[in-house]
Amino acid sequence: MKRGRAEARAPDERLSAVPADVEQWSEKSKQSVAYGFKREYQDIPYNCWHCKAACVFTAQDQRYTFEVKKASIDQRRTLCASCWSESHRIRLALRDCEERWARSKAQLSVDKEFLSRWSGLLVALEAYVAYRPDAAKKDMFAKLMARA
Ligand SMILES: [Zn+2]
Repeated sequence: MKRGRAEARAPDERLSAVPADVEQWSEKSKQSVAYGFKREYQDIPYNCWHCKAACVFTAQDQRYTFEVKKASIDQRRTLCASCWSESHRIRLALRDCEERWARSKAQLSVDKEFLSRWSGLLVALEAYVAYRPDAAKKDMFAKLMARA
């Protein structure tokens, strides 16, 4: 099992808790209200935003996330492990498109296959994120595709 990820788990399993060492938090997390009172992490049950599977952001996972990875104490889980992996794969592919775009904009702006792959990835990612999609970028694709 990989650490730092949400693990799918039966919802009736007993929730557990582990002690928190707030001194291990990032400097930013130490500015939070929680720094003053957080004594332990408790399992946080949630449903994956994408596939609705029942998941738990375990107490152990929270300790690793906030004390070892130094993530912001405000961070919450929204996806299950497999949906998180898939969204990560899409993000990496998007980054690759952006890097290629930065290098050869003139050439790629008339490359219909590239543009449709890029916009397809953006649409695919929307299914995994709880916030509004990037409308400006979609507009850009619509214009480029019409021209390409
Ligand atoms: Zn899921």
